[in-house]
Amino acid sequence: MNGARRAPLSSRSLHSSPVHMASSIVLFGPPGAGKGTQAGNIVEMTGKPQVSTGDMLRAALAAGTSLGVEAKGFMEAGQLVPDSIIIGLIEERLKEADAENGVLFDGFPRTIAQAEALSQIAEVSVVIAIEVPDGRIVERICGRYTCGACAAVYHDTFNPTANPGVCDQCGHAEMKRRADDNEDTVRTRLSAYHTQTAPLADWYRQRDIFVAVNGDQDIAKVGSEIAAVL
Ligand code: ADP
Ligand code: AMP
Repeated sequence: MNGARRAPLSSRSLHSSPVHMASSIVLFGPPGAGKGTQAGNIVEMTGKPQVSTGDMLRAALAAGTSLGVEAKGFMEAGQLVPDSIIIGLIEERLKEADAENGVLFDGFPRTIAQAEALSQIAEVSVVIAIEVPDGRIVERICGRYTCGACAAVYHDTFNPTANPGVCDQCGHAEMKRRADDNEDTVRTRLSAYHTQTAPLADWYRQRDIFVAVNGDQDIAKVGSEIAAVL
């Protein structure tokens, strides 16, 4: 994705038709674009729960479930987990009561097959793409850390906690770094994004529900652009 291909917000009908109550929202973009960072505000604005396939897979991994064991090798290598696993995970998640009025998908769908499966089970009213050039991704991901209790997302230089090692959101004092947040794996993840996930942008553009925001600006400005879309 680049600036020239971005659908200008002013050309979209979304301003005059706010996100439908019972429909879902997709947060789209490369790894490290800021999806997780922006998700909290969107959840607050819309009341829709965040559904992050990455978080669900990491929880399965930590719990040692068979799904976690199956996904582990792909995640460690920076490759996408097979569609059948991801689609099954989403089908189960959408049966939960809090998904009744739609959800905020974060990191899903990531392939055309996943988007097609999603279109059979849920309505998506808008896909918000956070666009960030590849050159920024490595520094973002390699500096990322999260709260071990509430999973709030921070960055060593761009968004550090006010008190080192202590979560601004919940006060917990144990921060975590992801095993796959290293330079080698990031390059594989970026390559998977360009070959398998980026084609989804056109897939959603054709359905007229794709809006791009500039993710290469400070966190609050990205949040304002997203709020304007919603
Ligand atoms: P994603 O969920 O898309 O993988 P994250 O929200 O986890 O991305 O953000 C990746 C890293 O980049 C985090 O360390 C986060 O603090 C940082 N970050 C997020 N948005 C911005 C931004 N607009 N400018 C600078 N750093 C950012
Ligand atoms: P994320 O937390 O979104 O950065 O995802 C971490 C890793 O989980 C990815 O590198 C993939 O291995 C896997 N993953 C997460 N979501 C998906 C998805 N929708 N499809 C395939 N693999 C996924």
